[in-house]
Amino acid sequence: MAAPKVAVVGAGVIGLSTALCIVETCASCSVTVLADQFSPNTTSDVAAGMLIPHTYPGTPIHVQKQWFKETFTDLFAISNSAEASEAGIHLVSGWQIFKNPPKEDLPFWSDVVLGFRPMSEAELQKFPQHRFGQAFTTLKCDCPPYLLWLEKRLKATGVQMCTRKVADLWELHSEYNVIVNCAGIGAHQLVGDKKLFPVRGQVLKVHAPWVKNFIREGDGSTYIYPGIHRVTLGGIREKENWSLSPDPGTTKDIFDRCCSLEPSLRGAQDIEVKVGLRPSRQCVRLQTEVLRQGGVKLPVVHNYGHGSGGFSMHRGTAKEAARLVGECIAALQGSSLRSKI
Ligand code: FAD
Repeated sequence: MAAPKVAVVGAGVIGLSTALCIVETCASCSVTVLADQFSPNTTSDVAAGMLIPHTYPGTPIHVQKQWFKETFTDLFAISNSAEASEAGIHLVSGWQIFKNPPKEDLPFWSDVVLGFRPMSEAELQKFPQHRFGQAFTTLKCDCPPYLLWLEKRLKATGVQMCTRKVADLWELHSEYNVIVNCAGIGAHQLVGDKKLFPVRGQVLKVHAPWVKNFIREGDGSTYIYPGIHRVTLGGIREKENWSLSPDPGTTKDIFDRCCSLEPSLRGAQDIEVKVGLRPSRQCVRLQTEVLRQGGVKLPVVHNYGHGSGGFSMHRGTAKEAARLVGECIAALQGSSLRSKI
């Protein structure tokens, strides 16, 4: 069999990182990324990019922990390299605060992030409306620079990037041996997945370089995440809302909520509003499906539905998707060998 041809549909954080893991594990593969939108026009560009997991009710916790640990380990290595500023990856310390006792004293990810501990009484004095809190250091991706860095690495290994809307995965079968579906919320239409739904988010990206620590309400409803150049203020979670238009009332509400946690944000400047649709599901769809039409088979590896946690989990799920692609290629090579005997 000639070099296996793999098409990755999607150029958000999931598509790009999956393409990279495929190249890293299958040097003989020819990989193409196909997407109707690239950075800066994907949901991934809107995200805050914090590595704080959200829980998927339909996925075993030990699996989620492994995905998070792999992501954290790989990004920690980048943050500790000369590439860190170009890749937009950095460590950030801060607080997750609660008005009532947190559901879990030790979330599953507490021994993956650095220095997780209960906040001291002195620290809690900064937040007079909150009585409980957890302090830790985690990683943050500045999303558009990170996506561009991934694209640059892919191009350097010879991966092709094509702007193309895919209406049906079957249209790719004559050109590619294996398809990887990383279409995010686009999978709702592309593969008709009714279990996938949007959770609309809106964030403000502001200039407030004096804010150095992250602050997050324990339920994730309000957050302040400082990046290398801009601070991301959020948030909102609106299930089944497909609107990509910013809502001025939500902008004011987010700003007021963030200022009540960090009053110095009243002096923030250059406020930019962004909206994105989180591709949400009970669990990430990470599995192989063999499509059949007549006698023709088309192996598809699905990797979508990361909801609020695409950045927190992306390297872990990309590695698993690359492993599944490897299995598909081994099966194709086996059947091509058998047909020659
Ligand atoms: P996308 O980024 O949407 O990429 C999908 C790609 O598929 C695009 O390139 C699109 O053009 C392409 N595509 C779709 N359909 C087709 C088609 N038919 N043909 C061709 N191409 C197609 N996660 C975290 O871990 N930490 C955070 O702090 C965080 N903050 C967030 C804040 C907000 C406001 C939002 C909205 C999300 C946040 N998230 C966060 C979640 C994160 O953004 C998502 O989980 C992640 O971006 C999903 O990535 P993706 O690559 O699957 O989807």
